[in-house]
Amino acid sequence: MKKPLALVTGAAGFVGSHLSERLLSEGYSVVGVDNLCTGRLRNLESFKDHPHFEFIKADLIEGVPPVLLGREWAWVFHFASPASPPKYFGMPLETLRINSEGTRHLLELCKKTGARFFFASTSEVYGDPLEHPQREEYWGNVNPIGVRSIYDEAKRYGEAITYAYHRTHGVDVRVIRIFNTYGPRMDPEDGRVVTNLMFQALKNEPLTLYGDGSQTRSFQYVSDLVEGILRLMNAAYVWPVNLGNPGEFTILEFAQKVRALISTAGPDVFLPLPSDDPKQRKPDIRLAKRLLDWEPQVELGRGLELTLDYFKTREF
Ligand code: UDP
Repeated sequence: MKKPLALVTGAAGFVGSHLSERLLSEGYSVVGVDNLCTGRLRNLESFKDHPHFEFIKADLIEGVPPVLLGREWAWVFHFASPASPPKYFGMPLETLRINSEGTRHLLELCKKTGARFFFASTSEVYGDPLEHPQREEYWGNVNPIGVRSIYDEAKRYGEAITYAYHRTHGVDVRVIRIFNTYGPRMDPEDGRVVTNLMFQALKNEPLTLYGDGSQTRSFQYVSDLVEGILRLMNAAYVWPVNLGNPGEFTILEFAQKVRALISTAGPDVFLPLPSDDPKQRKPDIRLAKRLLDWEPQVELGRGLELTLDYFKTREF
């Protein structure tokens, strides 16, 4: 029997690669597309030779490459985008365009083929939230001209155009808002708190804490996210769903977790808080629980151990 065909943009990225691998194990044929601006081919190592996987190096900003046309897509996942603040600060226009024009091109593809479209949105649509924890109904508190707006507003636009195609053309859509996610295959150079602190501890260097470290984040292990994605794709619900781990930690507490795992003598250094850095973030996941019978299974200590195992077995 012919396997259903899934397109994953951003397949060489952290989340896109885990999703592609999981789809293959679920019996899908997967075409992974990535322009490798932040994605890395090493993330494809464990499944690049799978008979039902195909990788295409391409950019979607100017349009869907001809090689992707005329195929019977069942599912189209749009994960391609720089995602960590230092990375998207360095690629502002690319970040805006892949989430706006890139999303439009993929929605056109779905309109033509009848494929179900999945947009990877983000907790950043809530900005520096005034409501805590964040429910899907919350409209957010985003500075439209702040340094983070290139990502936050790009994702908000991505959601807007997704629902415009849904309302106007009946495209079948799914949208998730992803809260901070970590795990194997993160880019050690992505400048995020998880990778920065783990690698600093491994090198016995001071841990860099921005601001006074009292800001909070909620950290989700990547396999929990991928499980939620699959469940939503199989559910009959078109509106945005939060996927994240509601366990909330200050950055100071997070640093303690890292120290508990990797003993390091280096002190903490406090650096200026980047502008518009959200003060708190924690998902309300009642919708995902009710709708998908989903909740995170991997607690932070365990997830960090698994991530450390990965980082230790690789040269960076
Ligand atoms: N952060 C930090 N030290 C670092 C990197 C980040 O204290 O070396 C802080 C950052 O200011 C933010 C939080 O950790 O408050 C999470 O940052 P990250 O870049 O991982 O993700 P964000 O949630 O901001 O997109």
